[in-house]
Order: sequence, then structure tokens, then C-alpha cells
Amino acid sequence: MSLVTTKEMFAKAYNGGYAVGAFNVNNMEIVQGITEAAGELKSPVILQVSKGARAYANHRYLVKMVEAAVEENPEIPIALHLDHGDSFELCKSCIDGGFTSVMIDASSKSFEENIALTKQVVDYAHDHGVVVEAELGTLAGVEDEVAVEHGQESYTRPEEVEEFVSRTGCDSLAIAIGTSHGAYKFKASQCTRNEKGILVPPPLRFDVLEECIKRLPGFPIVLHGSSSVPQDFVAMINQYGGNMPDAIGIPEEELRHAAELAVCKINIDSDIRIAMTATIRKYMAEHPDHFDPRQYLKPARQAVKDMVAHKIQNVLGSAGKA
Ligand SMILES: [Zn+2]
Repeated sequence: MSLVTTKEMFAKAYNGGYAVGAFNVNNMEIVQGITEAAGELKSPVILQVSKGARAYANHRYLVKMVEAAVEENPEIPIALHLDHGDSFELCKSCIDGGFTSVMIDASSKSFEENIALTKQVVDYAHDHGVVVEAELGTLAGVEDEVAVEHGQESYTRPEEVEEFVSRTGCDSLAIAIGTSHGAYKFKASQCTRNEKGILVPPPLRFDVLEECIKRLPGFPIVLHGSSSVPQDFVAMINQYGGNMPDAIGIPEEELRHAAELAVCKINIDSDIRIAMTATIRKYMAEHPDHFDPRQYLKPARQAVKDMVAHKIQNVLGSAGKA
């Protein structure tokens, strides 16, 4: 199998009551960890590349590593997606450079400007057999080039979604229902604390999601900022010299519920970063004499694989759906 678009993946996910995981890739170990998990669990998977990842690793390296992963895992569908494209030129460069899916994120612009830029990308992408994700509403948090202050985020307005999708022709729509980018998804003042003193976030706005679904029957919805920031890994980071106080994410049960509805793509990045960093910190602390990067990157890659396997089985529901 060669790289595929998300069209068939999303149609199956919509009807099957599960979601496909979209995991950000930045280096070889991350690509391998994600695709080994998806391959073993026979799950479709989306590998996504941000503007920051292209700046870090170089477009050509990322595409070639993903192509290698496709050859190594011929029995599962894999899509290569641009995460948060912020201009027509960036989207065009990825479409011309082998991606099968791009996101144009013009959600910070006015409704009309968002429609105009999204439509421009859709026209070019569809001419080249590539699908487009667009966004309405804005998420709080920080992810690579995208930074929105808490309090500046805005939920998607369901009354806008039909006009937006029909005028742009986009293939999927990212909406804002209270998920957030990064490892610090909520301010303490937005949360309560449980008996262990750990922050409990406000619930996702399922009423907004359900209203969008009602207005866009059969249409794939995307959730960004959907890491759960597992507290055992945060504790491991803090135990071994790190400092991540009050890092919290979205509870996995809420994401599982969203996946059963029309949410077909769930973006998970921070959880992979946290699992890798915790594993490396622990390894370094326990083996102060080691200096071969393969020694600590091997368990780090395994941590990525275990995290993705956990998400596929317990959050996305995509195991066996390849
Ligand atoms: Zn995002």
C-alpha cells in the first residue's frame, strides 16, 4: 500500500464509531514508534507534520522516513498530513511534495477571510488528489507556531458550519469544543482539584459537538489538542529533575465518547513528547555513565510505541480497522 488520503479512513471511522489517531512526527524514533504500534494493531494512522517539524527535520527527511514506514507496514493505510498550514504557499508546497492531506488553519481570520483562503487551498488540493482539513473556532494553548492565550479561545459556532463547509468544499472540519494545545491545557482557576491535589479540567462542550453533527450529517469532525497528559509520566518527569507543575490534559473517557460520535480524527502530540521525555530522564538518571544516544532513544521509542498502542486500543477504538 502507498500513502493514502483520509477520505476512505474517515468514511469507515464515521460509520464504525471510532476515530483515527493523528500523531505528530519529528524524527525517526517517533515515526517508528507510531507506525510499529499501528502496524501490530492493524490500525489506520495519520502521521502529521507541523511547520515547526519541517523547520526542525527538513521536509525531505520527513517524507522519506514516512515513505519507509509505509513500506515497512504495507497492510495498514497511512496518510501524511500537514498540521496547521498557515498559508496557501505552505499548503501548496506540501501538496506538491508528496503529502496526501493538508490543514489550512485560517481560524484566526474573519469568517469571510477563512472561507476565501480555505477555498483557495481546497481548489488546488482537489486538483492534485489531496484532501483538506479546515478549522472554525480557536483553541487555547501553545503548539509550535500556534499560540493562543487562555481566555482568547472561542468555541465553534454551530450556526456557521454548514455555510463554511458548503462554500469551501473542505473534506473535514476541526472544531473548538474545549480541547487545547500543549501540556498545560487549563489554568488552575478553570479547574477543580481532586483528592490527590491534581487539577480536574472543565468538561468538553459536547452540546457544541452535537449541534455541529446535526448540521453536518456524515461529515468528519476533527479534534485538535487532545492529549490527556498522563499523570504517571508527568510524575516521572518531575521525579527525575523535570518541572511540570499542574500539567493536565483531556480525560480519555471524553475523547473515547467523541470518537464514537462524528469525530473521525483525534490529534495527539503532547502525550508522545511527555512519554519520551519522562523515559529519557529516568534512563539518564539511572545510567549516568551512558553516552550512546541509542541507549536512551531505544526505550524512548518503545515509550512512543506503548503510548500509541494505548491510544489506539483505549481511546480511538481503531484497532483491527485497517
Ligand atoms: Zn492543532
